[in-house]
Amino acid sequence: MITKESVKMGMYDNVMHQFNKAANLIDLNPSVRKILSSTNTEIVVHFPVKLDNGKVEVFTGYRVQHNNALGPYKGGLRYHPTVDMDAAKALASWMTWKTSLAGIPYGGGKGGVNIDPSKYSIAELERITRRFTFALGDNIGPEHDIPAPDVNTTPQIMAWIADTYMSTKSTNERSKYSHVVTGKPVAAGGLAGRDRATGYGVVVSLKEWAKLRKSSLKDKTYILQGFGNVGYWASIFMAENGAKLIGVQDASGSIYNKDGINPKDLFNHTESNNGAIAGYKKATSFPNQDFFGIDCNILIPAAMGNQITSENDFKIKAEVVAEGANGPIDSEASERLFGMGVDVLPDIYCNSGGVIASYFEWLQNRNGEMWTMEEVLSKLEFKMKDSFQRLIETAKKYNTDWRTAAYIQAIQRVEQAYIQRGIFP
Ligand code: NAD
Repeated sequence: MITKESVKMGMYDNVMHQFNKAANLIDLNPSVRKILSSTNTEIVVHFPVKLDNGKVEVFTGYRVQHNNALGPYKGGLRYHPTVDMDAAKALASWMTWKTSLAGIPYGGGKGGVNIDPSKYSIAELERITRRFTFALGDNIGPEHDIPAPDVNTTPQIMAWIADTYMSTKSTNERSKYSHVVTGKPVAAGGLAGRDRATGYGVVVSLKEWAKLRKSSLKDKTYILQGFGNVGYWASIFMAENGAKLIGVQDASGSIYNKDGINPKDLFNHTESNNGAIAGYKKATSFPNQDFFGIDCNILIPAAMGNQITSENDFKIKAEVVAEGANGPIDSEASERLFGMGVDVLPDIYCNSGGVIASYFEWLQNRNGEMWTMEEVLSKLEFKMKDSFQRLIETAKKYNTDWRTAAYIQAIQRVEQAYIQRGIFP
């Protein structure tokens, strides 16, 4: 069964462990290390919202800004009962490393609301989102801190954030602010292809992995944890590359079919089933604890953090784990999988397609342009391939695992910025 993200090793402890391992290997400048070991800003807001029944509930929202040496803070907002300061700090730090590794001019931020959104009506979710945006005020902004979608936050939610933020500005300036948030619906200033970008990037990273191992994705079997934005789109592109989905797990349970599960057909089932895979008739349901032990070539965790730990890492039979989710493997399990010879495509590389496409959306809005889906996906693919090459070369140079290599690349870029600019005053 999936566990609460921050129950075992805290998520932020996890990030710090990964950061320190890389920092030791490159002998990171001690002053820069001190700065990067801390977050810049931690915001907690409590805000009231009137529910449909007339009662008022007070919600708690978070926004952590980890570092902005390379550009404005960038990172998603999550609506989930596990959202807390520890999770927000960890996820914000990962964004600093993810944007730096991808070579885009952003820092790292993350946040969300501690809420189970399935308990609220659409009208209530709209009021919660608008009031949360209002409470954050100018702590977010198109040139300062730019949120995006994450778990349970949709393009519609991004459109409400943009509209609320823009409504607080003077009438003649409003249109200048639409890039306060990315991941908007296309008609509301969104980018063609942003919806599928993270899943697409996961599959590009797997294709690069397969090439490196002198193979391809054709006929490879895989299992997928999470059938939301990232998981669904990854499964669509995996199917295009001839891979076979044999097991899926989401918050509602786990299903298996050795002959393959058709992602589009499963999606149609979830559409009329509150988004849940449970009850899908063309596969067998089985206990959640057996999920990671399924015999397959590839495992894609695309749900929550801290899912693969010392309690289940030894069950994994896949040759490669592609981290669609942020932080799905804790540090201990990560070391063990490396020892077991399982390749791990680390989150700050593997799921960076989302933030890369968010950067394209931000540029599109800022410059008043309209990009096509083909342009977006081909530019995204180019950037993902470039990051993969740098990651592999760094791993060789430092004789280390791919996660540490990704951190090394990311940390060195931020270190350079600090060394060249110095510390104010
Ligand atoms: P989503 O809300 O669209 O989907 C989340 C999925 O996880 C759902 O299928 C849900 O059922 C499943 N899930 C939730 N709780 C679960 C549980 N207890 N057991 C098993 N499955 C569970 O979210 P998403 O946007 O697809 O994000 C998934 C992961 O990818 C997160 O870790 C997120 O931070 C990361 N990520 C997302 C993006 C993006 O662009 N959306 C970008 C980079 C990384």
